[in-house]
Amino acid sequence: MSPIFEYAPAPESRAVVDIAPSYGLFVDGEFREAADGRVFKTVSPSTEEVLAEVAHAGAEDVDAAVAAARRAFGPWSALPGSERAKYLFRIARIIQERSRELAVLETLDNGKPIRETRDVDLPLVAAHFFYHAGWADKLSHAGFGPDPRPLGVAGQVIPWNFPLLMLAWKIAPALACGNTVVLKPAETTPLSALFFADVCRQAGLPKGVVNILTGDGSTGAALVAHDGIDKVAFTGSTAVGKRIARTVAGTAKRLTLELGGKGANIVFDDAPIDQAVEGIVNGIYFNQGQVCCAGSRLLVQESVHDELMEALKRRLATLRVGDPLDKNTDIGAINSAEQLARITELVDSGEAEGAVRWSPACELPERGWWFAPTIFTNVTQAHRIAREEIFGPVLSVLTFRTPDEAVAKANNSQYGLSAGVWTEKGSRILAVADKLRAGVVWANTFNKFDPTSPFGGYKESGFGREGGRHGLEAYLDV
Ligand code: NAD
Ligand code: MG
Repeated sequence: MSPIFEYAPAPESRAVVDIAPSYGLFVDGEFREAADGRVFKTVSPSTEEVLAEVAHAGAEDVDAAVAAARRAFGPWSALPGSERAKYLFRIARIIQERSRELAVLETLDNGKPIRETRDVDLPLVAAHFFYHAGWADKLSHAGFGPDPRPLGVAGQVIPWNFPLLMLAWKIAPALACGNTVVLKPAETTPLSALFFADVCRQAGLPKGVVNILTGDGSTGAALVAHDGIDKVAFTGSTAVGKRIARTVAGTAKRLTLELGGKGANIVFDDAPIDQAVEGIVNGIYFNQGQVCCAGSRLLVQESVHDELMEALKRRLATLRVGDPLDKNTDIGAINSAEQLARITELVDSGEAEGAVRWSPACELPERGWWFAPTIFTNVTQAHRIAREEIFGPVLSVLTFRTPDEAVAKANNSQYGLSAGVWTEKGSRILAVADKLRAGVVWANTFNKFDPTSPFGGYKESGFGREGGRHGLEAYLDV
């Protein structure tokens, strides 16, 4: 199916944000170089252009940041909740005011479409700060006793797929509950966290309450192993999560882990097909499929398989892959060469193991890292593409005949982060959702996020919840 009209280019201006040639670490309210002077570069995944040079924090810098957070903890936790709330409200409003800058910066550093950073990431980031600002003076009514206390200094490590949103999920509840933080963003996407450091200064946040250390896995490892922290919060791969759990075991540190997923999106034969197609697309092609809760396994009732696949393929042919700064782009760049290699390796295994691969005709830009939206049919539960997290725009399609079979197949995974159910029967939604071992179950929708709603996993998807009243527990001594 060829489009009737060509789209004119609709680029967002990158001039709205100033990117400095180099950035320091944010420690004790100041930007400073790494103690040993190390730096690394961050690039734009869609052009491979170097955006900036960033300080690489080592052990000495981790010491300094943890010490700053410790000094700040006493006064910060002693503030009345209503005073802490004022800072969080201020941060939320500054983020709203500067959201265009932040959206462009995030798109440049991460490669995701501006349509998503502008319409999804940034509004959610602001919402998380507003929501937790509201909790700061109501903690004694949260169901954790009359005067729940903060834990102390939190060491937080986040991934690259939603850089600023994951920062918000970590920092907003920590601060609302009276903790101070040292946060390490991912090495491929440090810039929005450093911009956030500037937002903290603009908001007049007391120095040391938020510290940002840029660096790679070695920086993260030094942070989570540091004796001076009371709490570790990690979002990232299951492999690294397991390593962190071993590091923290036997210490008094509290731990929450948000890890990988292999979400099942279940379509029953009575589902509205067109709506389901939109939900499937949103479930696996949103953010190039680099989403921990992506609906990467489609389970279709056998009787509607062919009809659904036809409709889905028609829809995929209309997705626009390309310049993430273009407002009409649906699918942007893959975050890094390493991630692209991981996707490619798993997709090759899918073909080798006998699944049928399909992609719409689409031209990929020459520079940068790209992967065409892909569907695998004839997938069995034994295939690697049905079991392992691909973290890319690749959908594995399996079929089922009965609701019991759907549930059994959905739960046949080492992961348990998300699932979707598509059917017009409310009773079936409730019955199936009840049996799914997934932290979040969406019904007739997918990838909907809200700060009031707790998010987290079962099994190897991790433990602990972020968001909602439940998420506060991770930052309170209860
Ligand atoms: P990753 O685990 O390699 O890296 C995540 C972060 O951990 C980065 O900041 C990295 O520098 C740091 N890190 C690496 N090694 C470390 C170590 N030994 N100790 C401490 N920190 C270390 O993951 P990734 O490839 O960057 O991100 C993709 C993965 O993250 C996917 O598996 C995805 O499912 C998962 N993820 C999960 C969620 C969730 O909420 N459950 C959200 C986003 C991403
Ligand atoms: Mg980058």
